[in-house]
Amino acid sequence: EIQEHTIINANESPYNILDFPSVREDFLKGLAELKSYRYPDPFAEDLRKALAEYVQCRPGQILATNGGDETISLILNTFINPGDTVLVHTPTFDIYGIDATVLGARVVHVPDDDGYCRNAEKLQQAIADMQPKVTFVCNPNNPTGSIWPVSVIETLLQTADNIVVVDEAYLEFSGQDSVIPLMETYDNLIVIRTLSKAFGLAGCRVGYGVAQKEVIDALGLTKLVYNLNILSQNAALAAMDYADEILAHNIPPTLAARQHFMDALKDVPNLTVYPSATNFVLVRVPDGPAMVKALHDADICVRSYKAADLKNCLRITITTDDVVRRVVAVMTEEAKKYA
Ligand code: PMP
Repeated sequence: EIQEHTIINANESPYNILDFPSVREDFLKGLAELKSYRYPDPFAEDLRKALAEYVQCRPGQILATNGGDETISLILNTFINPGDTVLVHTPTFDIYGIDATVLGARVVHVPDDDGYCRNAEKLQQAIADMQPKVTFVCNPNNPTGSIWPVSVIETLLQTADNIVVVDEAYLEFSGQDSVIPLMETYDNLIVIRTLSKAFGLAGCRVGYGVAQKEVIDALGLTKLVYNLNILSQNAALAAMDYADEILAHNIPPTLAARQHFMDALKDVPNLTVYPSATNFVLVRVPDGPAMVKALHDADICVRSYKAADLKNCLRITITTDDVVRRVVAVMTEEAKKYA
């Protein structure tokens, strides 16, 4: 038996929800009825309703997109002109800065304090000083795993005259409430969600933006007309039909495995393990490239970084206990060399 490579570098789920009997049956039933010769519904109205029910808002407040990545891109395309300022805390998800730079924006970074603690006062001050066109808050944050309570996000929304994007791609792993209800009070809030992580549909490319209807309508103007294909819509609908079952299956073992990972590594000399509200953990090691190689030799692929503020940091996706045990064994052994 050939062992599969262990790919834990992209925060993917280890579970194939299309293998769950209920989801599979639902998916295949939908598939049998698909009209492949028709274009997709441009606003994926059925899916929109299902997603709205899932996050408790109105369907008109949802835009279903080709992954959360498309929502990020649409937000910037809609609100950014060359020379405008985009504000991010850093380190965070690269794509905000990359997409903004492509559009000719000036990207301003507010660095975390030591230990990747985000500094809310500094970010709030930067918003007040610059009133950037768009501010991105990744919550929980990729790659550090840290999370801000809803109340901190609210202070940022109070300060911002313009758009504040809260990327909740990993929210389901945090156990914390979404900031979506703040939309009622703050019309400048856009929330990004995805089915790629907790629902394990990364390959289907389904994400969504949540905002007030006028904002969603504006984002919809610049998207490709048929941005979400019918196969992906069908898979996402099946997932939403069984959302509770899927989350009950996928989340608890991931959180347990994350706890085992933290417990196993917290007292290993030379390793710094950062707390995480997500399905990944950031670890600082003595020698990043050497640790990547040691893991690679054990057929394990993790995420490493070029950025100076993430020097010698690895981001490890938490999947199953089995994988955690293997990763822990390699990392513990390698870390001993620096004792
Ligand atoms: N936001 C964050 C913070 C992410 O980590 C990711 C996935 N890497 C995304 C958004 C986009 O995910 P997707 O396009 O698969 O929905």
